[in-house]
Amino acid sequence: MEDIGSIKRRTLLKGMAAATAVSVMGCAGQVATGSRPRVVVVGGGWGGLGAVRALAASGQVDITLIEPNDGFMSCPLSILYIAGFAPASDFQRSYGVVDALGVRRVKDRVLDIDRAGRTVKTATQSIPYDFLVLSTGLEYMEEALPGYAAARDQFPVGFRAFEQSAVQRQAATFLEQGGNFVITVPKPPYRCPPAPYERACLIAQRMKEKGTKGKIILVDANKHPMPPPLAKPMLAAMKEMYGAQIEYISEVDPKSIDAGRKVLATSKGDIPFTHANIILPMRAPGLIRKAGLGERFAAIELPTFQSKKDKNVFVVGDAQGTPLPKSGHIAFGAGQQVGEQILATIAGKYKEAGLGDEVTLPAAICWGKVSTSLAIMINVNASVAVGDPPKIKYQVDPAANAASSKGAMDWGRNMWNAMLG
Ligand SMILES: Cc1cc2nc3c(=O)[nH]c(=O)nc-3n(C[C@H](O)[C@H](O)[C@H](O)COP(=O)(O)OP(=O)(O)OC[C@H]3O[C@@H](n4cnc5c(N)ncnc54)[C@H](O)[C@@H]3O)c2cc1C
Repeated sequence: MEDIGSIKRRTLLKGMAAATAVSVMGCAGQVATGSRPRVVVVGGGWGGLGAVRALAASGQVDITLIEPNDGFMSCPLSILYIAGFAPASDFQRSYGVVDALGVRRVKDRVLDIDRAGRTVKTATQSIPYDFLVLSTGLEYMEEALPGYAAARDQFPVGFRAFEQSAVQRQAATFLEQGGNFVITVPKPPYRCPPAPYERACLIAQRMKEKGTKGKIILVDANKHPMPPPLAKPMLAAMKEMYGAQIEYISEVDPKSIDAGRKVLATSKGDIPFTHANIILPMRAPGLIRKAGLGERFAAIELPTFQSKKDKNVFVVGDAQGTPLPKSGHIAFGAGQQVGEQILATIAGKYKEAGLGDEVTLPAAICWGKVSTSLAIMINVNASVAVGDPPKIKYQVDPAANAASSKGAMDWGRNMWNAMLG
């Protein structure tokens, strides 16, 4: 398992690669003379905090973080809370460290980006920037499933911070009452591909412990668990550990949901349920499209994470539209990298990667926990030759194991500390 020391070392190397890189940065961020450059970061999640920590360490820029939530909640590992194995507080942190670093924190939601005027707007204020870092995460494509929007409160997705509570309540009711708990899996790209399978496994473990009668029906739009290298060990774990609790159906497209009759209509027929966790397809929030920064996801350049539409705007995390997996580890690393790039640009030290130069991209570690004591590690390394699509290499545990389960918890604590410790 990669430790934070190696994340820092890699980031340094990446920073050096970046320092020998990038003319697309060239005309970014012309800053008014006599004032400190203003960097606005939108979103205090994994990517936003990576940028804030890198920028704040320099003491050279005015940083504003705009985030509507009072604090941070991790999606990674929060299945332990959803399935009833840990309290929510284990996955929550305050923004106290950000405040102590002298970052101006605005508890609000950005509604508009005025790119021509280099200003972001909330309901009550306009905030100017020289550089804008967007790490807004995702929204759900509710229109993909007719019947969903009218009943969204009954079917929380729980793939964004703080939404876990609604899914936890739903899982707790199912575990008490029993029945048919439908969990859907969309086609990629969606946030953390192993997460729906992990959710099914941990709730199934709880079913066994509590003697819950019924089953989890995992309705997968894909041919096998995602990402593809995870399929074999995840299918083996589901079959061997939860053969009586999980019914796995693949290559099924949900067509509509009837909340009143409690029926999910699919390409393979109707599936009646008592409880449902509908994990919808995902896209970047509307703010990104409204600002003309992309369609389903933001269009960015690699390795810089700079918008293809605006050289003063960077998009990191799950809202960006490259083939990189939608992972918190990558989001945090990309945020750090962009923070360092902005500092290098301001210092006049940022240089372009030549066409064909191979540049290392932020790496990812995702965890597919299959029980409280076993997990499958998915390690992702990526690089890009400027002008080409990124090359992405997966390394996946051949089977669920105890070392990766411990590694997951250590990784979580290290990442949360790097963000907010
Ligand atoms: C169940 C689950 C398990 C996961 N496990 C792993 C794992 O093992 N490893 C891993 O690397 N990743 C994992 N992930 C993925 C990880 O959580 C995401 O990739 C990561 O959160 C992406 O970071 P982000 O900054 O793009 O978005 P987020 O962390 O979601 O942050 C976005 C922030 O932007 C704020 N925001 C949104 N819109 C606005 C606006 N208009 N104005 C102001 N603020 C706004 C939101 O409030 C939010 O705080 C998992 C995800 C899930 C759901």
